[in-house]
Amino acid sequence: MAADPVSVLQRIFGFPDFRGVQRDVVSRVLAGENTLAVMPTGAGKSLCYQLPAVMLEGTCVVVSPLIALMHDQLRAAEAVGIRAATLTSVDENRAETRGRFLDGALDLLYVAPERASTADFRDLLDRGKVALFAIDEAHCVSEWGHDFRPDYRLLRPLLDSFAGVPRLALTATADAHTRADILEQLGIPHEGMIVAGFDRPNIRYAITPRDGTTRQIVDLVRATPGPGIVYAQTRAGTERLAEALAVTGRPVRAYHAGLDPAVRAANQAAFVASEDMVICATVAFGMGIDKPDVRFVAHAGLPKSIEAYYQETGRAGRDGDPAVAHLFWGAEDFARARQRIGEVEAHRQPGERARLNALGALVETAGCRRRILLAHFGEEAPAACGNCDNCLAPPKAIDATETARKYLSAVFRTGQMFGSTYVEQVLTGKSTERSLVNGHESLSVWGIVDGEETILLKPVGRALQLRDALRANPHGGLEFGPAARAILKGEEPVALVLPPKRERRRKGEAAA
Ligand code: ADP
Ligand code: ZN
Repeated sequence: MAADPVSVLQRIFGFPDFRGVQRDVVSRVLAGENTLAVMPTGAGKSLCYQLPAVMLEGTCVVVSPLIALMHDQLRAAEAVGIRAATLTSVDENRAETRGRFLDGALDLLYVAPERASTADFRDLLDRGKVALFAIDEAHCVSEWGHDFRPDYRLLRPLLDSFAGVPRLALTATADAHTRADILEQLGIPHEGMIVAGFDRPNIRYAITPRDGTTRQIVDLVRATPGPGIVYAQTRAGTERLAEALAVTGRPVRAYHAGLDPAVRAANQAAFVASEDMVICATVAFGMGIDKPDVRFVAHAGLPKSIEAYYQETGRAGRDGDPAVAHLFWGAEDFARARQRIGEVEAHRQPGERARLNALGALVETAGCRRRILLAHFGEEAPAACGNCDNCLAPPKAIDATETARKYLSAVFRTGQMFGSTYVEQVLTGKSTERSLVNGHESLSVWGIVDGEETILLKPVGRALQLRDALRANPHGGLEFGPAARAILKGEEPVALVLPPKRERRRKGEAAA
């Protein structure tokens, strides 16, 4: 008689019961059905193949993209007594591992995609018994995914050649398009997709334009007790922020790949142990660390994608207590991202562009952030969550089309070569030596913006860059992008979201 999964779960893993969709995933796998499990980080994906691996006769082959990750998983599996091994270039015991597999003495065999797709590996599998293929980080198989790995595409023939062996694809981050692609690429039927809930109700989302980043982050740190992560975009940025945050009186450390490995490990360990430390890090930080009580995650710049944003902010509040995710962005972030997209292979550009636009929509919305975030992962959510900046203090949406047209017109008439500061000076008629020499004071756009409208110029400049109506060239000069013409002609309205009174909000934050 077959064992009951829950009793194995209790006996081997020591958990009283399944969590969320684990039960559904495991029962499909045990029934031999091909499955895609989409579960957010921390939801317990590994258990979905580890448990069947223990219960089924034969070995579960786990394809995983990162050697470091494999070794973490190996340690965790061995700790609960699962017979596991990794087969990678850095393992010296490869011959022994092959022997254990052939002897049927392995529950789990971790392997990288480039090795999994070799003829040599297929021969090995042919001579032993495979119970299950688990494909971790399955979004790597899709060009739509944010982390495409060509080696993942080579897995399909291997999977197909073991016709009776079920496959389980796992990912934490996949939008609808990527999911459909994973199903197709890995030969999994539509009804085989199981999606866990993505909502993290205890995380309060906030997104604000940068306006003195350091001061903004100092304010956030002062307002938010407990451990926190500040993501910066460069190594130098992490160090600068770490220094600046010293004024808060909190212990602060930096973390980036350029640090001595011993220092890096020490900083990580100190953070994990601390109850009030702030760590200023590049995005490499946080992968595989298990710290449930992180109270805030701040981004000093735009993340790579909504998936990355979700994953990085998801490191806050794993314990379920209130936590804050605050992103500070600038027009330069979008300009730089578009520039980078221009440099990738042509066939990947549409996907990258769609990803950036999705991020732009999240940043620009006057509506609920959580709703947009969840919609991205295919989940419906109420119109307002009550726990994001826009729900807590609804911003004013105003029609800024006319100001946007003036802005574009000024960029055009000054020759598409000046930065935003200069363009704004022209529009407000602020005479400088430069404007005199350039003869710009006689332009029709000279000084056409005054009074209340002047405060719209900066946000309009940002909005135009976010929409790719303006692009910054490498010298900071603004040029027309593809979206400029329709706006200039008045065919495309520009709505602008103005945060509620800034002073009031800042006090509100400090009191929170
Ligand atoms: P993921 O890979 O989805 O990010 P992990 O597999 O690393 O998540 O699991 C996250 C944590 O949840 C681990 O500490 C794991 O031991 C724990 N966990 C997994 N399943 C259960 C369960 N059914 N009950 C309690 N804890 C669980
Ligand atoms: Zn909301």
